[in-house]
Amino acid sequence: MRIGIDLGGTKIEGIVLRGEAEVLLRRRVATPALQYAATVEAVAALVRELEQAAGGVGLPVGIGHPGAIAPASGRIKNASSTCLNGQLLRQDLEQALGRELRLANDADCLVLSEACDGAAAGSRSAFAAILGTGVGGGLAVEGRLLAGANAIAGEWGHNPLPWPRPDWGEVPGPLCWHGLHGCIETWLSGVGLAADHARVTGERLAAEVIVGRAEAGEPRAGATLARYEDRLARALAHVINLFDPEVIVLGGGVSQVQGLYRRVPQLWGQWVFSDRVATALRPARHGDSSGVLGAARLFPLL
Ligand SMILES: [Zn+2]
Repeated sequence: MRIGIDLGGTKIEGIVLRGEAEVLLRRRVATPALQYAATVEAVAALVRELEQAAGGVGLPVGIGHPGAIAPASGRIKNASSTCLNGQLLRQDLEQALGRELRLANDADCLVLSEACDGAAAGSRSAFAAILGTGVGGGLAVEGRLLAGANAIAGEWGHNPLPWPRPDWGEVPGPLCWHGLHGCIETWLSGVGLAADHARVTGERLAAEVIVGRAEAGEPRAGATLARYEDRLARALAHVINLFDPEVIVLGGGVSQVQGLYRRVPQLWGQWVFSDRVATALRPARHGDSSGVLGAARLFPLL
């Protein structure tokens, strides 16, 4: 048995995975708002509860978290749950649980889960992107996570949106939270989609409302979704040109827009440096559970 924990901004989810893929138990608790010490304690309490319910002791625990761990300092950086930033999350959790843990960010857990038995199963190379509150990415090769020298492999959400269109307000683009302009995240997160719609139409609507209206044929929302798809196609063309994955998997709230999987591959060919694009674009098979499933697999089966 292995335990996987998905530490999110609003909830902490935990599972006990038995063998390759059997989810024995699943529990969710709310994340203590903006309180680091209480968050560490909540994760430790959830692990203990899962172990007790599963009848296991000292099980391997993998933890998916927002942001990345800076290799030099061991401290969390780039996390959208900002109370984690600057903290020694690994050490604090290892101390609380009395064992060695493996940690990876949420996009890395997504790509690991989907490459194992999800939408990218059997592929030799996969890129997974989370299009949610923030935008993150992760890479897997031969079913294994590619971590990278700086622990940021696949993190393309803070690259600039490529081939920017001044007529769509993309130069210099919105200010991102870390001080640079025009990051992919500022366009492709749910918040980015809503902000683009508000700038063009003056209507302040949530991303899911805009998507619903677009799918119902409302023209202004439809134009917003079309701009979003064009930007997603450009951003993914960059990934294909650099990494050329066999499969690209999308997770996060915006990944549930079914039309993306037909329309984006119709668009990306104009920017991919190849006369033919064989890359498949697929939704995450395990949806929101990919984070916790990937976390449980950070310790491979022996
Ligand atoms: Zn950024």
